Parts: sequence; C-alpha cells; structure tokens
Amino acid sequence: MDGNGQPREWSVKKSAKLYQVKGWGEPYFRINQRGHVEVRPDPTVDKAIDLYDLTKQLGERGIDLPLLIRFPNIIQDRIRLLNQCFERAIAEYGYKGRYRGVFPIKVNQQRHVVEEIVESGQPWRFGLEAGSKPELLIALAAMDDEDGLIICNGYKDLAYLETALVAQRFDNTVVVVLERIEELDLAFRASEKLGIRPCLGLRAKLSSKGIGRWAESAGDRAKFGLTMSEIVQVVDELEKRDLGDCLKLLHFHLGSQVSSIIPVKNAMREAAQIYVELVKMGCTMGFLDVGGGLAVDYDGSKTDFRGSMNYDLQEYAYDVVFAVQEACEKASVEPPTIVSESGRSIAAYQSVLIFDALGVDSVRFEDPTPPSPEDHRILDEFYETWKGVQPKNVQESWHDAQQALEEARSLFKFGYLGIRELARAEHLFWSCCAKISQSMQRLKYIPEELNIVEELLGAIYYCNFSLFQSAPDIWAMDHLFPFMPIHRLDEEPTVRARLADLTCDSDGIVDHFIDVEEVQRGIDLHQVREGEPYLLAMFLGGAYQEILGDLHNLFGDTNAVHVRVEDYGYSVANVIKGDAIDNVLRYLQYDPDEMVERVRKQAERALNHGRMTLPQLRTFMQHYEESLRGYTYLKGDA
Ligand SMILES: *Cc1c(COP(=O)(O)O)cnc(C)c1O
Repeated sequence: MDGNGQPREWSVKKSAKLYQVKGWGEPYFRINQRGHVEVRPDPTVDKAIDLYDLTKQLGERGIDLPLLIRFPNIIQDRIRLLNQCFERAIAEYGYKGRYRGVFPIKVNQQRHVVEEIVESGQPWRFGLEAGSKPELLIALAAMDDEDGLIICNGYKDLAYLETALVAQRFDNTVVVVLERIEELDLAFRASEKLGIRPCLGLRAKLSSKGIGRWAESAGDRAKFGLTMSEIVQVVDELEKRDLGDCLKLLHFHLGSQVSSIIPVKNAMREAAQIYVELVKMGCTMGFLDVGGGLAVDYDGSKTDFRGSMNYDLQEYAYDVVFAVQEACEKASVEPPTIVSESGRSIAAYQSVLIFDALGVDSVRFEDPTPPSPEDHRILDEFYETWKGVQPKNVQESWHDAQQALEEARSLFKFGYLGIRELARAEHLFWSCCAKISQSMQRLKYIPEELNIVEELLGAIYYCNFSLFQSAPDIWAMDHLFPFMPIHRLDEEPTVRARLADLTCDSDGIVDHFIDVEEVQRGIDLHQVREGEPYLLAMFLGGAYQEILGDLHNLFGDTNAVHVRVEDYGYSVANVIKGDAIDNVLRYLQYDPDEMVERVRKQAERALNHGRMTLPQLRTFMQHYEESLRGYTYLKGDA
C-alpha cells in the first residue's frame, strides 16, 4: 500500500522476481497471467497445469491439504536431461565408452516413484542402486526387464551377498560393491557355496574430499570405502583364487549436494587414475561409477553456496567424461562404461507440497493513546520515546524502548504496576518497534543490532503441515527449500512472515528463506482474507524428505497424488491417502478399538452420575471415533 492506502502497482513479473521462480524453478515452474503458479511437467510440450486450480479440483475429489503432488513427467524429463547431457559429452569428446546411470533408491523409495524411474529410464537402460538389503529387494523386483543394471552398495551380510549373487543369473547385471575389506571374505564364502563367480566392484576411499555438509563421505576419514592398501589387498586375494576377472567396477561417492565443480574435477582425476591402475594390474573392470553428489540449485543463485551449485548438468557430464577419457587415453586403456548415481538431481523437482495457512499472528500497529496524569511515570517516558523516534535516532530509540520495557516488567514483578498498565507498556514497545522499522527504511546504512526489530515485527503464519514429517532437513540441517504462495501473485505481498508448523515444537518453524545474495529471515506474504484459503507450497522436496520424515506430535504421512499431463489436460492417478490417526496409533502399539471402549466407559459413568447429558455423550463419542479414522492434520474452516 502507498501512503494513501491505495494498492501499489504490482505485477506477476514482480512476484516472479521476488520469489526467484526462474532461478530455482525453470523450466518446470513459473507464474501465469492469473497470478497462479503453474507447472510444466514436460517442458518439451507446451502444456501447463495451474497449481491453484489443480489443488482446488483435488480438494473437490476429497483430497485434503496438506497434499503432496508428484509429477512423473518431471522425473522422466530429469532422466532424459541427464542422459542427453552425457550423450552430448560422449559425442563431443569422441569417447569410446558409454554412460549408464542408476537411481539410488534411498533418495525416494516410494513404489510409484521407483516404478516411474525404471519405466522412464528404459530407453537409456537406466538402472537402480541399492544401499541396504530392503532396497536390494525393491531393486530386484522393480528391474524385471532384460539388460538392467543394479549396483549393490551398503553394508552386507551373507544373505544380502547370496541374494545378489544368485540374482546375477537373472537378465540384469548385478554388481556387488565391496565397501569394507571384511565383505571380501563373505563374498568368497557365498560364491563357493553357490558355485557362482561373483561380479564385484569396490568402493575407493579417495583422498579428494567433497564440499559442504557431506564432505566427510570421501577423504581419509570417511566411513566407507577401501584405502589404497586395501584395494591392492583385494586384487591380490582375487588373483590368488583365480577370480581376477570378477572385479568389474570401481566406485566412489563424494557426498551429496556437491555445490562446487572443483571437488568433482579433483575426484574424477584421482578415480580415473585408480581405474587405469586396476586395469593395468590385470583386473577385467568395465565400469567406473562416479557416485552421487550432483547438486540441485535450491536458491537459484548459481553459486557454490551450500543450497546452490556453480555448474550445470552439462558441465558435470563434460568434466566426468573428460577426466575418464584423458586418463584412459594416456594409459591406452579401454574406456569404461561410466555410471553415475545421481539421486537428488533426478528426484528433487518431482514433488510439490501444498498447504494452507490456518491463522496469522502479527503485531498490531495502532498508535498508542497518550498517558494521563495519574498514570505511572514509566508510561509517560515510554510515550515520549515513541513520539521521538526519527531516522536519525533509531538506534538510541531502540535502546530506550528496550530499557523502558524491562523497567516496566520489573515494576510489575514488584507490584508497582498493574497488569493493564503492563499491557500498555508492551503495546508502546511494539509501537516503538513499528516506528523504528518505518524510519529504518529511510536509512542507507542499517546498524546490525537493528535487524532484530524486523524479525520481532514479522508475522507468523500458522501452517497446516509438519516440518518434521514433510521437510525434516530444514530442522536437521537448516536446509533451504523454495517456499511461496501459489496464488494472488498479481497482488503485492505486504506482510513479512515466518512459517510455523502444527507441531508443539519451537523448532517447527521455517525462518530461513532462499535468496540469491543472503539467506532471508522472512518471506513476503499476502494478508490472509476472511473466508478464503491462503495456499502456500514448498518446492524441490522430492529427494530424501519423504522417508526421513517422522511422526513428531503424531502428524503422519500427507495425502499424495500423481498428476500427469495429457492431451486433454491432466490425469490424476495413485491417490495415496495420508495416515489416519488410528494407523499412526497402531504403529505405536495402541489398540484404537480398545481406546474407544475405555473412553465410552468413562462417558457412561459420567452419564450415570448425572454429570453428562446424552447429547453430550453422543457428540463426544462421535468426535472421538471420527477423529480416529480421520487425517492427522487440521481441516481448514474456509
Ligand atoms: C546417497 C548416495 C547417493 C545419492 O547421492 P545424491 O547426491 O542424492 O545424488 C549415491 N551413491 C551413494 C553411495 C550414496 O550413498
């Protein structure tokens, strides 16, 4: 609003800039002329789905918020893009080997996601990576076509190894990657028992480290992988048993979200050299698996900041292919099939979490009333402080206001100030903050200590989701995801806010937001209008969040649905109802039927003693039983 209470000129374009949709969302997300976010799940065709309309239409089908919408077309596009980038690098460098990616199941184990990946990956013979026994079981069932590729990582017991070894007799290539030297003996035992020559890989502990949160996945102190002397030991042991031809793959993993390309280049050089040496030692080899780490630009800044990446898919593919090409050429070694295990980059974009704001807590800005002569002098002084706030004395006013509030609170504690007067003192404090904040806008330089004023004044939007269930990485490691409203983007957002979730945990708040320059402590939102839902979305949460999510305060899985573009618009499939309360309770060993019986007994007793009426009993039992069957989240009134 401008000074006359008129809405300022605002446009969809300004919203796009404010929320930086282009930076993190292209080519899948943008804002349309109606001021709604729209999704283009398949950027190769010009078909867009209006996210706001879609949410409403799903609501009419009875699919309530919070809601996770998955777009399988996006998965397909990510797989296509990754493969095309490698194809192009291979063609440009005249590389004689090929590329075959695998999807690490741990990044998103949902059946429909894995099935979509297997199906979309078929033209490129894209494979799967398993990091545990359960994931291996998924991979074996999902890759049921011929000529698939399954990489078995993670810690293995004998059952895991025997399963993987026998599965090598299927139509797929199944490679067992040794992560620890102890697994070699297990592999020998399994191989002897079954009479199957194993198809083995080994994970090297590179000296090159990654960058950021998962830098320790590589380097000398890494939890996984074989040291150089262990690698030599493996080769010698294999030779001794005449199994030298069984070593087929070299693997390394730099850690996830590698935001800079430099560690990738360094690691590639080191790994390519190890590969060449292994061939020279007489191992058959054939695959070089460069692991995961390909990052996602969550803030759109294109920098090496932890939430971003300073390279793109094509540069990554060029650098990987180049390093292998160079090392192999120099040593006259046949170039291997290059495998990558990019999970985040494939899965992050495919889902959008939609939720509604249930209420807003914001500071009121009405001017304070002047104190009367019989008021306590502290109110007088406070009022003078408020009157005196100007751009040139904001810092001084801030100190005065803080001190006055402290004094008022201490007077209250000792009984010299009543509760109504304390309430007025608090109101004066907030009024001072508001005036200081207004004055700050006219300053070129804002003293550091005053940033807190903006934070204090920021509104809190109470939102219908659980951070612990739907975005655990925000809580665990201050991960940044793009958030924004999905409608009213042709209106100016006038409220600076933070987003609080439904849990009773003070950590359940989103108070770090993406920005190209500096992480922001608030997000600009619209005033919520009476009787109209205000819908927000979190984007790029398709990797890792779903399975890491937990049941804090017993908020369960959200509703989820798959939406696919069609000639006629879109189709809805795989509606997966979120957890009902009784599901969650059973998971914790409660028996919902017995719980109903127990409360009914108490209600009957209250009825018999005349403390409860029959209609009251009926209302209570109805709510209790319906709630048990219902969604763990709240139902908006609007
Ligand atoms: C987690 C993991 C990946 C996936 O990494 P992204 O950064 O998500 O691509 C790949 N390989 C291994 C061994 C992993 O542990």
